[in-house]
Amino acid sequence: MPFAPITKVLIVGGGTAGWIAAATLARLLQDQPCRIELVESDAIGTVGVGEATIPPILELNKVLGINENVFIQRTQATFKLGIEFVGWKEEGARYFHPFGRYGADVGHVDFAHYWRRLQHETGAEAGTLEDYSLPTVAARAGKFMRPDPNPKNVLSNLAYAFHFDASLYARFLRDYAEGLGVVRHEGRVVDGELDARGFVAAVRLDDGRRLDAELFVDCSGFRGLLIEQLLGTGYEDWSHWLPCDRAVAVPSENVGPPPPFTRSTARAAGWQWRIPLQHRTGNGHVYCSDHVSDDDACRVLLANLEGRPLADPKLLRFTTGRRRQFWNRNVVALGLAGGFMEPLESTSIHLIQSALTRLMTMFPDTGFAQADIDQFNRASALEYERIRDFLILHYAANQRTGMPFWDRCRTMAIPDSLADKIELYRSRGRFFRFEDELFTTTSWQAVFEGQGVTPAGFDPMASGVPLDQLRSTLARMRDTLRRGADAMPTHGDFIARNCAAPPLQS
Ligand code: FAD
Repeated sequence: MPFAPITKVLIVGGGTAGWIAAATLARLLQDQPCRIELVESDAIGTVGVGEATIPPILELNKVLGINENVFIQRTQATFKLGIEFVGWKEEGARYFHPFGRYGADVGHVDFAHYWRRLQHETGAEAGTLEDYSLPTVAARAGKFMRPDPNPKNVLSNLAYAFHFDASLYARFLRDYAEGLGVVRHEGRVVDGELDARGFVAAVRLDDGRRLDAELFVDCSGFRGLLIEQLLGTGYEDWSHWLPCDRAVAVPSENVGPPPPFTRSTARAAGWQWRIPLQHRTGNGHVYCSDHVSDDDACRVLLANLEGRPLADPKLLRFTTGRRRQFWNRNVVALGLAGGFMEPLESTSIHLIQSALTRLMTMFPDTGFAQADIDQFNRASALEYERIRDFLILHYAANQRTGMPFWDRCRTMAIPDSLADKIELYRSRGRFFRFEDELFTTTSWQAVFEGQGVTPAGFDPMASGVPLDQLRSTLARMRDTLRRGADAMPTHGDFIARNCAAPPLQS
């Protein structure tokens, strides 16, 4: 073998990214003679947010062999069936982006075309697209259960993710990773050392300790200690498309049982999240500092909490975009060190997970083949860009006229890749999903429809089904979904029965 295997990996940073990386590498490199170490600084701490997820996180739990109920109890987690968007199209409007598809197969084309044809021919009788989504109907009724394994059962038509406490999640994964032999160093990294090739040879801590490795995983957060401060990789700034650049976050007391969904409410210069956990609610206001001051943003947040605040609001600054290279020489940047897109669709934790999957398929030897690194960077950039376009759609397709921030978003130039998708959808409701694109047709349909991007027509293939048959089939579907949701337990009862978390020791 011309190049030796990697025998030591150092992860710099112990937030969500660092500990997901440690847990995943420890699990997947279990049979390799590879030592995994992590360095973090309690004095610096973590970003402390990042509490809503999307369904692929179930895959991560599976890979790690994590018992879901235990994970929920340890992280004070709740279940998430999707995101409710309030006021995004215009003040007072609401829509739901569900996990799980709309309707069921009727003929050869996507279900939404049959719905649209029925709507065209019969008007209100067809109901809304949301009437054909079990997670939407269930979420609005505060219901939850895990999907029925029988694909013929209407209750199989669900997908879910979690809301969890970010610091408890990092702690949970730390215990897991240390259990598999990961060695943690406490200390502040103050410097790095490059070898003759310009690769990182070691980092130095403030007490003089030197930690070397062959592969470095930079999970140091926005500062990008290795990828940027040491290697000067560069950053592609996307704030002309996603102009929000700050957030203020605060936890609050729960009021009533936790709803099984994240809520995102549009505000004058941004939006506010509500993330229900078992022991508290996470809240935050993401905003554009060109249009609102920090003090006013904070006031808006506090004025719109459902329960009493439990801490002082925390201000965070960010620039939307990505590193020019996620993998540079022997440094792979994950999490906030790799890039940042605002949490509108809860994608950041997923991006950590998918980058790790990619790293495992391209795992280097000490030769660090440039072709592998290039492929990793290409795939990562594409994944980021597809998500970026989806996020921009929420802003660009708004009808909140007369508000400077929203007028700016509605009239800004958008990427061609998104403009093409909008044009295609507006024409006949068709959607083209790129290979490896994270968000599904359902997700795009939910946001197109919710934001008022409606097609001029539908796929002519949807005309093949006789109208009477279509009418009765869709009426039956709506009824079955409604009855299915009625039969589900409430989210609160489901948690109480299966995975209630013990009160936290203070
Ligand atoms: P951090 O949490 O910042 O961790 C950095 C680590 O590096 C820390 O351990 C720190 O101590 C260490 N470190 C830094 N410098 C040094 C040093 N010199 N020496 C030693 N150690 C050092 N994602 C989602 O998926 N869903 C969400 O709902 C969501 N909401 C978000 C809301 C906001 C406002 C923001 C800003 C982000 C949100 N995210 C969300 C993103 C998510 O929070 C991050 O992707 C995730 O927490 C990973 O962060 P991290 O581990 O990369 O960085």
